[in-house]
Amino acid sequence: MTAPSSRTDAVSGESSEHWYNLSPGDVRARLEAGEPLDSAAVTQRLQQYGPNQLPEAAPRGPLARLGRQLKNFLIYVLLSAALITALLGHWMDTIVILAVVIIQTLVGFLQEGKAEQALSAIRHMLAPQAVVLRSHGRHTIGAAELVPGDTLLLEPGDRVPADVRLERVHGLQVDEAILTGESMAVDKAVASQPEGAALGDQRSMVFAGTMVTTGTAQGVVVRTGTATEIGRISGLLRHTNTLKTPLLEQIDRFARYLSVLIIVVAAMIFLAGTWFSGMAMNELFMAVVGLTVAAIPEGLPAILTITLAIGVRRMATRKAVVRRMPVIETLGAVSVICSDKTGTLTRNEMTVTTLVAGGERYEVSGTGYSPDGAVAGPAGQPLTPAVSELALAGALCNDAHLKLQEDPVRVEGDPMEGALKVLALKTDNALASVDTQWPRQDEIPFDAEYRFMATLNHDHHGHAMVYLKGAPEQILAMCAEAMTADGSIESLDTGPWQQKIDDMAAEGLRVLAFARLPVSADTSSLAIEDVRQGLQFLGVAGFMDPPRPEAVKAIADCHDAGIRVKMITGDHARTAGAIATKLGLRETGRVLTGAELDQVDDDELVNLAADVDVFARTSPEHKLRLVKALQAGHGVVAMTGDGVNDAPALKRADVGIAMGVKGSEAAREAASMVLLDDNFASIAAAVREGRTVYDNLRKGLAFLLPINGGESVSLIAALLLGLTLPITALQILWVNMVSSVVLAMTLAFEPTEGGVMKRPPRARSESLLQRSVVWRVLVVSLLFLAGIFAAWNWGMDRTGELDYARTMAVNTLVAMEVFYLFAVRYLDTPSITLRGVVGTPIVIGALVAVVCLQSLFTWFPPLNEAFGSAPMDLAGLVFSVAAGVVVLLLLELETRVKRRFRGHREAKPGAPVS
Ligand code: ATP
Repeated sequence: MTAPSSRTDAVSGESSEHWYNLSPGDVRARLEAGEPLDSAAVTQRLQQYGPNQLPEAAPRGPLARLGRQLKNFLIYVLLSAALITALLGHWMDTIVILAVVIIQTLVGFLQEGKAEQALSAIRHMLAPQAVVLRSHGRHTIGAAELVPGDTLLLEPGDRVPADVRLERVHGLQVDEAILTGESMAVDKAVASQPEGAALGDQRSMVFAGTMVTTGTAQGVVVRTGTATEIGRISGLLRHTNTLKTPLLEQIDRFARYLSVLIIVVAAMIFLAGTWFSGMAMNELFMAVVGLTVAAIPEGLPAILTITLAIGVRRMATRKAVVRRMPVIETLGAVSVICSDKTGTLTRNEMTVTTLVAGGERYEVSGTGYSPDGAVAGPAGQPLTPAVSELALAGALCNDAHLKLQEDPVRVEGDPMEGALKVLALKTDNALASVDTQWPRQDEIPFDAEYRFMATLNHDHHGHAMVYLKGAPEQILAMCAEAMTADGSIESLDTGPWQQKIDDMAAEGLRVLAFARLPVSADTSSLAIEDVRQGLQFLGVAGFMDPPRPEAVKAIADCHDAGIRVKMITGDHARTAGAIATKLGLRETGRVLTGAELDQVDDDELVNLAADVDVFARTSPEHKLRLVKALQAGHGVVAMTGDGVNDAPALKRADVGIAMGVKGSEAAREAASMVLLDDNFASIAAAVREGRTVYDNLRKGLAFLLPINGGESVSLIAALLLGLTLPITALQILWVNMVSSVVLAMTLAFEPTEGGVMKRPPRARSESLLQRSVVWRVLVVSLLFLAGIFAAWNWGMDRTGELDYARTMAVNTLVAMEVFYLFAVRYLDTPSITLRGVVGTPIVIGALVAVVCLQSLFTWFPPLNEAFGSAPMDLAGLVFSVAAGVVVLLLLELETRVKRRFRGHREAKPGAPVS
């Protein structure tokens, strides 16, 4: 029998196999997948069916990208100018303007390419994963590697990676809105569905692209890639991510409005000029074109986009992948980070170090997941039946797999459950094959809502037992009896147990309790109501999960940066408190539990949330309330999450951060950022990058705007005062399109300034054009104006030649730009330091490029011809450079005076700091 070719189904458009109508056994028989697939079968099927992917929408080709550059307002202005100059017979001007159009288009083309590269790289970092059972046990693989016949495991928050015929379900509900439009989650079951069932009624199937909201399941993959239902409908993966943020859009709009305004003003000046200035029409027209080009900040959007693209890339190398672009801006303003504990602040490498069973405490030796080590009782007593029963419960109520053949031993699945498997091996080697001796009949999967997990197991001698593990207070509340050291059962006295649990938690151990419930041999299913009471308590285990050393440093850095860090965990209050102390987190020493949070109303919570740094035994709803309360207290909140129920809090937070390793697909999709390594230190690094990006955006603005300002004010002054233009339209085009762009581009690559994590977060409402930047723009515009006129006058006085004087003005302007670049690299700190003078390789490269370009402009005869420039002598060069040095010194002086003034004010308590 051959496996049905789902591909052919899809290609021919015929209705596919009615898998929902067949029994699981028949499905497996048709797929020839009676056994878990081995690697040879997987390779063969991958070849036959192809990867489990939908083809990506074809990337926009270079031609389309080029075409988009031409749809630009400035290009229209320039092309019109080129046409008019051609009609007027100024051929040289036409050629230069067209050359400028080409340069502008190329710059736009390249920067957009870079931005697209950055986005596509991060897309691939977030490729979905799937958990399968293959011949060597459980594996986490890329979803693209799934083949028909694979056994797939599903849990809450998973996005289903292929079409699957279900074989085992536990309370499975799936959101199928993407396929059927039905917004209520649908219950799923194993039983075959009648022939002809509509898609929404095929309850024995789950479909690619839908989302598991609750429950767990196991099933066999029946269709992959384009053969899946979603593949048949859409056929393509769509990516809508673009590098657009509110800020960029705002700046784009600002640039467009400014351009229109400038053109209107220019037209008015042209009209007025024809009445009263003595200029020839031609000359006047070129002056107005020059004014227009001088004033429009054409390079700005390109520089800002590339700054953001570089920020996205840098964050990805720091393991923080940006999913929604606006978050890059918000990150720099974050004032509170709410973080999970397990795995984010701690390593999530669990080891059982202590256990209490039958009233005795035992220490467990060994490190990591290696089974080398032993359980030692008081005074070396042999292990009691109570310890063995606890270890058995831990091994059976468990979904993890130890990869014992690997060195070091690795866990596939939940690390805490891995540690319980290790504990079982340390207690008794025979427990390695416990799964086959006590096969699982049914289960209640773990849920953070009720904080326990239960399994129903039958042995081969007609016994059946329910084993449970979970949060101690939860398990204790469901027990009536307890096991004594010798294995007999007595009635439960919770007091001493509570004391032991508190002691272990105070040591920073994560404590888990175990219980069992004997049931009759014919019991075949398990429901929550069955285990609510009457259980037998077996004891508790204490897990060591050391804090991440890098998290300790990152928390200290955040505190320095004025960012509060809050731990929000599902763990026990004492454990959370002890770990928080080790991490340097408990500023106020208080720990608040979820139960206490339930007692306070939303108004009270605003103050409490601000005061307390550690929240324990919380559920996802508490996270949502805390985000809202912190935001109400004017915080800009970053919140981490991993489960499907965390999605609302992640969406509500200003920066929602999902865990890339242990997080569910649902959390990732709700988040604006994903951590590839689940590490708190990566959040701190992302905030740092966010602040850097924002600084670089400010620097880009502070650099480019005064150049436009200085040039246009010079031209307006000349036109209004009836003076000769100190720089011609073509020369302005040259400066803006060549030197300024080359220099400004370097600012996108500026490294983080030293003190970036020493200052408080910026206010959310703070404008990019804040007062200090506007002030800078004004001061520098005036300095540039003065420099341009001084150079022109000096040149005229010395030689009386207009070309020479204009070349002086252009070169002085460029020299001032170069020196200003060094000043603008450090907006708030003095720039004349060795670090500042040496610059980065990119700055040096740009400098060399600009010197070469200006040399061509000045000494290369064809360019002299084109731009009306003239060779300069040594004295002219010295003048230009000196003007640049003067600009740098004046700005340096200004920065120092401002800092001293600010320092003076900060020294006075209560004085407002601007
Ligand atoms: P964090 O929220 O910081 O990641 P956490 O992992 O302790 O902390 P949850 O996953 O919500 O948070 O777990 C809450 C509690 O539920 C744990 O402290 C533990 O007592 C219990 N628990 C966690 N995982 C399991 C499991 N697989 N089986 C049984 N009980 C569990």
